[in-house]
Amino acid sequence: MNPQFIQSRITQPGLLPGIVFLLALIFSIIAYTIADTHEQRRIENTFHELAHLKAQRVSLRVDGYERSLIDLRGFFIASNAVSETEFLDYLKGVQISQRYPALHEVGYGSVVTEKNRTAIKAELKKHGIASLPAAPYLLNIPLLYHYPTGNGAIGNQINADPRHNEAIRIASELDQVQITRLINLRFNNAKGHAGFVMYLPFYGNGAALITAEERRQALMGIFYVAFSVHNLIQTTIGEDVGHQFDVALFDGDTINQKNLVYDSGNVLSRYMESRHDSYTSTQRTEVAGRSWTFLFVAKPAFIKANQSDLPISILTGGIFISVLLAWLANTLKRRLIAEKRNEYLAYYDELTGLPNLANLRSILIHKIAQAEKQRKPFALFIIELIRFKEINYTMGQRVGDELLKQVGTRLQCTVGSAATVARISNLQFGVLLSEENPFSAIHIAQRMIKSLEEPLPARGINYELGAEAGITFFPGQGTDADVLLRLADIALLQARNAGRSYAIYNTEKDLYKPQRLALLSDFRNAVKEKQLQLYCQPKVDLRANKITSVEALVRWQHPNLGLIMPDQFIHLIEPTELIQPLSEHMIEAAIQQCYRWREKGLALPIAVNLSMRNLLNPELPEIIDRVMKTWAAEMTCISFEITESSIMVDPSVAIRVLHRLHAMGIQLHVDDFGTGYSSLSYLMKLPVDTIKIDHSFTLRMMEDQGAATIVKSTIEMAHSLQLKVVAEGTATRNILEKLKYLGCDEAQGNYISPPLPADEVLPWLQQSGWEYAISP
Ligand code: C2E
Ligand code: MG
Ligand code: MG
Repeated sequence: MNPQFIQSRITQPGLLPGIVFLLALIFSIIAYTIADTHEQRRIENTFHELAHLKAQRVSLRVDGYERSLIDLRGFFIASNAVSETEFLDYLKGVQISQRYPALHEVGYGSVVTEKNRTAIKAELKKHGIASLPAAPYLLNIPLLYHYPTGNGAIGNQINADPRHNEAIRIASELDQVQITRLINLRFNNAKGHAGFVMYLPFYGNGAALITAEERRQALMGIFYVAFSVHNLIQTTIGEDVGHQFDVALFDGDTINQKNLVYDSGNVLSRYMESRHDSYTSTQRTEVAGRSWTFLFVAKPAFIKANQSDLPISILTGGIFISVLLAWLANTLKRRLIAEKRNEYLAYYDELTGLPNLANLRSILIHKIAQAEKQRKPFALFIIELIRFKEINYTMGQRVGDELLKQVGTRLQCTVGSAATVARISNLQFGVLLSEENPFSAIHIAQRMIKSLEEPLPARGINYELGAEAGITFFPGQGTDADVLLRLADIALLQARNAGRSYAIYNTEKDLYKPQRLALLSDFRNAVKEKQLQLYCQPKVDLRANKITSVEALVRWQHPNLGLIMPDQFIHLIEPTELIQPLSEHMIEAAIQQCYRWREKGLALPIAVNLSMRNLLNPELPEIIDRVMKTWAAEMTCISFEITESSIMVDPSVAIRVLHRLHAMGIQLHVDDFGTGYSSLSYLMKLPVDTIKIDHSFTLRMMEDQGAATIVKSTIEMAHSLQLKVVAEGTATRNILEKLKYLGCDEAQGNYISPPLPADEVLPWLQQSGWEYAISP
């Protein structure tokens, strides 16, 4: 699995909150739409009910008019004649105007026959009408009486208009109340009113009325009522018109301009334009032989009064819940990401995205199980970067981080994507691949090292790193993941000790074999049992030919193994806390020895070697101070030798301790110079007084031009930094002379003297021929 891919997956914000929000929002919108549709339907129904009621009310009023006609006729049926007095008295008596406020007129026209012509003429004459008007159609029906009186229409033919004539014909043939089509009513010659007239026939008493013809024959006169549409609407449903709704009335079943008899406010045109911006309701009703159609359109006041807040509450509540759910999903997602990230960090290196040590170990366990089944060997590499700490320290962590990422990529490119590359510690990468023999493994190790020697660019500068590799094989060298990892690590050390860039684990050279561990456990008693001995190796001032100081070197007198040299046990105890008692013992032994020499008149300072762990011990300056006070020693009697690599483990802590020691007046020497980081810029930051050229260069300087150049340039460089130079490994007279010639300040080595037991130093000095310092 590609680690970058996993990392990007676990760190991307994720769509979950968005999806949850969207789903909840869609759900809310659906709920809102359903509620809104339901609400609209409810309002629509309410409006239909209202419209039905209102149409009913108008219709009932017209029914009332119809009934008043029937009652009027009933009143005259018994007397078989209609007289003006009776007619007017009756209508006054029933308070027709009060009962039917919109009723304009009630009237009676008499059919003129041969028999009653004279009587009718006489009747008309009473109203000042001299002659009978001519009959417009078949029937001659002049208006005789009307209520209220005084509109001047008496004597007019009431069927003069074909619409009246048609209604009168139907009414008399069917013996029923028949209403006209819409007509323009004129009263007292005033402005006309759009309205209707309803007719009811009056037959002679006892006449046969079975067929239409018989009824036509028996017709004596005709009663009518007239009303204006506007007044009808106003006095029935007027209070709601224009407020709760607008209404249009059509004479007939069809809604069109031709049939329109009343429109309270553009209802028809809005309907025709199919504008459904409001609720509409169509209501049909039968009035006196004709069909009327009402079209109601709701007004905002009605909608407002009937609308509920439920849909909008659902929508706002839904949006609120959507946001809440999205927030919850986001919180959950963040928690999941954090968990995933922790999971990721347990198995991957955050910086490079490569598997970490724990991951490599489990991959290794899996690979071992697989390899055992398939009987296939494989190789494990540990690659350690060199010169990296110096760059990191000098150029800052960001540059270091960029370089480390590139190192991961370079290694992966070199070994291919099928191999596993892991970052197993700050400076170490583990590489796991199937390679069957040592030769191809060596070839791959060389390729990886070479790839890391190519300049690596970071922030505009090319950096030259380097690398060392330790190689181990399954199953030949180990069949357990931890053992393989340890052996690859030891192989790395073996490479370093041999001065090579890679090594395959060699059991012969393994200093870490179990029997060596026994040595480590023996060492625990060495200080207590006084098995550690102080040896001293003199240093000579090459200008004064004078022994100026010595270096303290430890020897271990092992009860069974005899005298053990530091090379065989220092590296074993250096990584453990046992190095602290060793160094404390050497510091105390050195100061005590100085005291003894001073008592014998010899002024010989001693340089004690310190290890990396001593430098990380913040109590070191106090310990030194205490011992100095115990032996009343001067600070000049002791100095310390520190290797650059020991400082580089944790430069900030180490440098702080070095500064404190230097501030106490103690001289500091950089040991084994040339084998570690050897950086000039770096050296300038250290509070040191001397550098010691490593004996590997000095020993070879006479025959190796490269070594000679390093010795020469180190001397020049140190002098330019006002530092003193000591050359270790001065093994011959020639070397000594050459060092003098090069301007080296001091020399140390077997030619002058090998390390001596401390109490042999004074006798040696006395017979050596070298000058030495006498104690004041
Ligand atoms: P070092 O501090 O670089 O000490 C110098 C080493 O070079 C000594 O090895 C010395 O015997 C050796 N040497 C000196 N002159 C010559 C020469 O002309 N030819 C050759 N071939 N070698 C020469 P030694 O005593 O075996 O110490 C080895 C290393 O062990 C020391 O290297 C030092 O790093 C460490 N060591 C010794 N004693 C102590 C100690 O008390 N504490 C600590 N932390 N390290 C110690
Ligand atoms: Mg030393
Ligand atoms: Mg040294």
